[in-house]
Amino acid sequence: MQRYKIQMVWDVFRPKDVPVPWYSLVWKGLSPPRDKFIVWMIVKNYIVTCDKVARWGGRGPLSCVFCSCALETRAHLFGECVVYKELYAGLLAKEFPRTPSDDWDVELQWAVSHLRGK
Ligand SMILES: [Zn+2]
Repeated sequence: MQRYKIQMVWDVFRPKDVPVPWYSLVWKGLSPPRDKFIVWMIVKNYIVTCDKVARWGGRGPLSCVFCSCALETRAHLFGECVVYKELYAGLLAKEFPRTPSDDWDVELQWAVSHLRGK
């Protein structure tokens, strides 16, 4: 008779996915769980932005709440937005002197490489 372990049952019901490169960025480190959850929502593009609200039939302004220069999307908020760039310059530029990219995917890749577990 084969013995079963609860781990085997767990693995059947919840198989492991392919590892994602941003796992350590999001879930490692000493940040409060609330912050980790918010970063996870941003990475998964689950944050509610004006472009999504419009697709869901919502009404209201579509422009970025910070700069009003473009449609508010994740890519805009965390790449293209001038306010994002100013925040970056004020918060991270001393430790990581660089010019942030306008491309969300480039920014995420940079964060995965440099901010893992911080
Ligand atoms: Zn903006």
